[in-house]
Amino acid sequence: MTEHLPVLEALTKLAADNVADGGKPYSAIIIKDGVQIAAAANLSHKIPDLTQHAELLAIQKACTILKTPDLSGCILYASAQPCLMCHTAAKWAKIKQIYYIVQRGSIPQSKLAQWMTSPLPGESLSYPPANRLFYYWDKNQQ
Ligand SMILES: [Zn+2]
Repeated sequence: MTEHLPVLEALTKLAADNVADGGKPYSAIIIKDGVQIAAAANLSHKIPDLTQHAELLAIQKACTILKTPDLSGCILYASAQPCLMCHTAAKWAKIKQIYYIVQRGSIPQSKLAQWMTSPLPGESLSYPPANRLFYYWDKNQQ
């Protein structure tokens, strides 16, 4: 626990600063090999966009800084339990571990996988120009 303390302090200060700025107490920090790579706070109070979550912003920054979408070996710290969107982004980015301070929301960790795989209403629509585009794009990926 004590090895996490400096990150938890930084995370809490970032969240408190964001609240003082009129925002929400959500913050995130990404660490790799003991070094802070990126930090972010929720910006939904400044930008009218649902995806301005601290965790997503920290992941985006880390990918930009490390020049890769592969964050293998990185640890994501968050002031609160990441939502499904952020949890999924962390999974796509291959984050190896998530630590969070406050458990929020109605989705217990044990049910997360079930929620992540439950489908949204979706339907495939046929549009040949787009199908051809994907066909040629796939063919040229080899
Ligand atoms: Zn989120």
